Amino acid sequence: MIFSKDPITVAYTVEKCDTCGLIKKRKFSEGDVLFSNTTKCSSCEGMLIIEKIFGETIEQ
Ligand SMILES: [Zn+2]
Repeated sequence: MIFSKDPITVAYTVEKCDTCGLIKKRKFSEGDVLFSNTTKCSSCEGMLIIEKIFGETIEQ
């Protein structure tokens, strides 16, 4: 295993259902726009909206 001190920043997208409050976190994918509808909620009839996009730094 190669050891590196360079941190890597990974972007994440947080999706939230306004109807039931379900929150899903997944890796950011191209085309994600803040506060836009993404997919149908898996636990109710609502739609998930992108609530937050953030980057997390991972030290390896
Ligand atoms: Zn829901």
